[in-house]
Amino acid sequence: MTDLKSQTPEEMTRTLMPMGEPAFRGKQVFTWLHRGVSSFDEMTNLPKSLREKLAETCVLTPPKAVCKQVSKLDGTIKYLWELGDGNCIESVLMQYHHGNTVCISSQVGCRMGCAFCASTIAGKVRDLSPAELLDQVIYTQKDSGLPISNIVLMGIGEPMDNLDSVLKFLELVNHPDGLNIGMRHISLSTCGVIPGIDRLADLGLQLTLSVSLHAPDGETRSKIMPVNRAYPVEDLFAACHRYFEKTGRRISFEYAMIDGVNDRDWQADLIAERVRGMPGHVNLIPLNDVVESPFKPSKRVAAFQKRLEVHGLTATVRRSLGGDIDASCGQLRRKAMEEQKGK
Ligand code: SF4
Repeated sequence: MTDLKSQTPEEMTRTLMPMGEPAFRGKQVFTWLHRGVSSFDEMTNLPKSLREKLAETCVLTPPKAVCKQVSKLDGTIKYLWELGDGNCIESVLMQYHHGNTVCISSQVGCRMGCAFCASTIAGKVRDLSPAELLDQVIYTQKDSGLPISNIVLMGIGEPMDNLDSVLKFLELVNHPDGLNIGMRHISLSTCGVIPGIDRLADLGLQLTLSVSLHAPDGETRSKIMPVNRAYPVEDLFAACHRYFEKTGRRISFEYAMIDGVNDRDWQADLIAERVRGMPGHVNLIPLNDVVESPFKPSKRVAAFQKRLEVHGLTATVRRSLGGDIDASCGQLRRKAMEEQKGK
């Protein structure tokens, strides 16, 4: 079965021409799919015979919203989508003054093993296809009725571990005949997979690279992020500098503030030392107090922020959205998996 939705209009034309279809059909089908039709039958300007042929030869499995939580506090919406093969992923829609932002997943599960993350507990199941990445944007927009203007690849999974699909997705979502979301409205997050950062740097895309740093020293980082053993933090910063030199884009460093682990002044000083020479933005993330978690929220967020600012770094504290729903990455999927196990 052909995964038509993972194709560009040009590729769709090449798929459809051997069926005797004219060149313009590719663009027609592309536009329909990016509008969020759930069956070929809804493509009313296509001949019926073609619609039937596409239904027989192409896979079209729109995700099913199996759970939807809406925050009463700020309107944040969290979706648990069931994919064609029964696997589940999450997307979160956040409403900011600069527009509606959807945070999407890049894999079913994750193999990176970050100690503070629910998404990695059962490991990685599989990568998502470009179509499955795209569908999270299309169906979040369709279901919520809110136009999406920004995308962050910061949900379940490590985007650099599925980079071919992610790059294809970026091409599709950026396409003028589709959703046409500009690269400057897209952020891609990595836990520090250096070959991916270098590959992205060579492409020179104008998206925002976001690095989940969480500790500037190797000893602490290896304890909470096993990826540091494969790609040490010193090499990660070197890759960030190369990325900035090639793209001219400021990198955003994500930093979850954990009590007694990564919130000391010397760690703020070390961040500043390692960022020096490029513009950097540090986004401090206050932790939620989860009873079962060994990681407790730091009480030094403001002091840490000030220390970074003294060094001339831009540091912000992330506003926490969706405080009354399971809005942290992987929580909803994990809950659904546990419920299934209990049945
Ligand atoms: S934080 Fe991101 S990279 Fe780390 S385990 Fe969770 S999903 Fe994977």
